[in-house]
Amino acid sequence: MNQFRSIRGMNDLLPEKSPLWQYVETTLNTLFTQYGYREIRFPLLESTQLFCRAVGETTDIVEKEIYAFDDKSGDSIALRPEGTAGCVRAVIQNNLLATPQRLWYSGPMFRYERPQKGRLRQFHQFGVEVFGISGPDIDAELLIMTARLWAQLGIGSAVTLQINSLGCSNSRATYRDALVTYLHKRYDQLDADSQRRLERNPLRILDSKNPTTQELLTDAPCLLDFLDEDSAAHFTQLRSLLDAAGVAYTVNPRLVRGLDYYGKTVFEWVTDSLGAQGTVCAGGRYDGLIAQMGAKSTAAAGFGLGIERLVLLLETLNALPATIDRQLDAYLLAVGDVQSTALAAAEQLRSALPWLRLQTHCGGGSMKSQMKKADKSNAEYALIIGEDEAKNGQITIKYLRTQVPQQTIALTELPQRLQDEKKCTKQRRD
Ligand code: ATP
Ligand code: MG
Repeated sequence: MNQFRSIRGMNDLLPEKSPLWQYVETTLNTLFTQYGYREIRFPLLESTQLFCRAVGETTDIVEKEIYAFDDKSGDSIALRPEGTAGCVRAVIQNNLLATPQRLWYSGPMFRYERPQKGRLRQFHQFGVEVFGISGPDIDAELLIMTARLWAQLGIGSAVTLQINSLGCSNSRATYRDALVTYLHKRYDQLDADSQRRLERNPLRILDSKNPTTQELLTDAPCLLDFLDEDSAAHFTQLRSLLDAAGVAYTVNPRLVRGLDYYGKTVFEWVTDSLGAQGTVCAGGRYDGLIAQMGAKSTAAAGFGLGIERLVLLLETLNALPATIDRQLDAYLLAVGDVQSTALAAAEQLRSALPWLRLQTHCGGGSMKSQMKKADKSNAEYALIIGEDEAKNGQITIKYLRTQVPQQTIALTELPQRLQDEKKCTKQRRD
């Protein structure tokens, strides 16, 4: 019989890896809370039309990557390929735009891409969206906040920030014409993808990975020379805010985002430690989108951060906290006919020490075989209840990772003992 396999590009997260994900998720959650951002959750499925409208008909996401299908009543619905469209739909529908909003979300996104390292069909993002704040100060805040994240994760030196300004839609249209004129003269030298984009979405040619195309672009008109006054001032102010905050960046005039809705500021945090999938976090300003979705024109900016790529980066750089491997503090052995005593002792301990990660051995077996499991569990202590201990209200504590000799003590003394031990371990670590 054929065994079931997961769908290509959709991975399981196994228990040995989940502490690493939890570490990243907790760090991000705490960071956003620290900056006064609030969580929003919205569905994984939306009408396909929402993504066509919000993300753009000519983007790779909508043209090639979207998982869309008809539901049983014949409506076209799609798995979300990114978070901004659903988030914007939710804030409009729920009338959240009367006051400024700083929001974050996380969860799976779906794109039909060619799976490879750091590129999946179900991947996971943290996203941040800010609504109702139009100045460069909020753009700077987003970047300062992400810079703090890298520092906290200990990977500050492995990621660099690239920024650019796309200007307003008028200045972008003027630039677009200049670029198209320039490239039309060199049409035959363009790669096939870029030839196709020349009609549909010429700005995307700027971030073509094709070396010949990049070479051709050396003397192409530069986006930054076409900026309107307002966008130019916004960009200058953003740069001076970043300088003042000590956030290093390079201006990359060929940085354009794959999505249609951006204008003014765009940015990417990139690393060269992950090969071709080097963008860990990307975003920018999209002041035009909310009006385009039928609501009152509202300023907006945000970013998306790929968790798979971040986790890969932490692993590649060996930037994992030492404590991440230990998922248990104690393993409780029940040797002999002592199951009810062992279960009761475990409950008492959990009530007394809520921080304690305690696993109770189930299924019996000899002292030797249970001890083997305790050792393999990576716990710090084995706690043993045999028939003697059960009779005398005692418990034996065996130190699995240090040379301290084992001791048998009264069960009632154990919580205090473990509490003291925890303090010592922490002091040793600090
Ligand atoms: P790329 O150029 O790598 O395809 P993108 O421009 O399509 O990225 P965004 O739509 O801006 O990516 O998504 C934000 C972030 O989500 C990316 O910077 C990346 O970290 C992550 N990401 C995007 N697509 C994938 C994917 N298929 N698998 C894993 N992570 C992804
Ligand atoms: Mg992509």
